[in-house]
Amino acid sequence: MKDLALDIRVEKAQQSRINEVDFNNITFGKTMSDHMFVADYRDGKWQDLRIVPYNSFSLSPATSSLHYGQSIFEGLKAFRNVQNPEEVLVFRPQENAKRLNVSAERICMPSIPEEIVMAGLHKLLEIDKDWVPSTPDSSLYIRPFMFATDEFLGMRPSETYTFAIITAPAGAYYSKALNVKVEKEFSRTAPGGTGFAKVAGNYAASLLPAKLAAQQGYDQLLWTDAKEHKYIEESGTMNVMFDIDGTFVTAPTIPVEDTILRSITRLTVIELIEDMGHKVEERHISVDEVIESIKNGKMRGAFGIGTAVTIAPFAKIANDGIDYELPADYTFSTELKAKFQGIQKGEIEDTKGWTYKI
Ligand SMILES: *Cc1c(COP(=O)(O)O)cnc(C)c1O
Repeated sequence: MKDLALDIRVEKAQQSRINEVDFNNITFGKTMSDHMFVADYRDGKWQDLRIVPYNSFSLSPATSSLHYGQSIFEGLKAFRNVQNPEEVLVFRPQENAKRLNVSAERICMPSIPEEIVMAGLHKLLEIDKDWVPSTPDSSLYIRPFMFATDEFLGMRPSETYTFAIITAPAGAYYSKALNVKVEKEFSRTAPGGTGFAKVAGNYAASLLPAKLAAQQGYDQLLWTDAKEHKYIEESGTMNVMFDIDGTFVTAPTIPVEDTILRSITRLTVIELIEDMGHKVEERHISVDEVIESIKNGKMRGAFGIGTAVTIAPFAKIANDGIDYELPADYTFSTELKAKFQGIQKGEIEDTKGWTYKI
């Protein structure tokens, strides 16, 4: 990959902004690193691959993605190798490159060769390596995204697109256990919709219900199926896992259900839990089963899983106006998170080839 014969033009920033950043006090998503990778899709092919100083795009008011939402993204993280601080470890980036194309296909965008994504990512991180924090619990968040750029108000798939990767140093995410509310009124998606794809519009649809839940004191929603509001799907931008009597239950993703985003963290967690000798079940789980399991003491714990949080334990689950407390002495999610982050940071040996080295 390192000597990939892709022609990436590099224009370096005249001056780095890194000295303006307090790495012990990072507000997530506000400060971007010095450079970005950009590629344009024109005349049926990806071209003008370049690394340039982080800067604004110039867009026509008629840019089609602003009107019709042809816009997708990914999210992943890079860490400094604890055992070799000169080395940067990116967690499963090939999976993100694949999923980007799953999303692209759903909203009629061109696919982008994984080699372009990986080569762009590699070169960008080589150049902005100093931006990967070394403070505990921190990482460099990587945001690849693609959007339609036709200057055209007609309703049809755009013929031109921009793909870019920007990065931002990130500190620890949620620190305390989350209070989540089972959502039975709103839906983020529905069968046949775009829930399995990381398309921008899904997140717009989730903002109002999340805001209403926040006003009631909840940190996140637990989405239920759009048809009956009977089955748990996922939570915010996390998949969810329930520990019922030592069996770990999580809702199925594509190809079984197209309403749930197929989390890469979840794929990883499933393997880790199975390697620890526990059973994982990918199956529908009803709200009733969750509440019943809490009531009869079988629910040992529940947690959200996603790149931003890694593993985020739940403290309470609210259903129909009643708060159900989960056991406060649940330690498995903390252990699992330590193991997961240990692999990400090179503290624990990666026997699976999950970490991509730069
Ligand atoms: C991104 C995302 C996740 C988590 O996926 P990861 O690959 O683990 O980061 C879960 N649900 C939704 C809706 C998401 O957008």
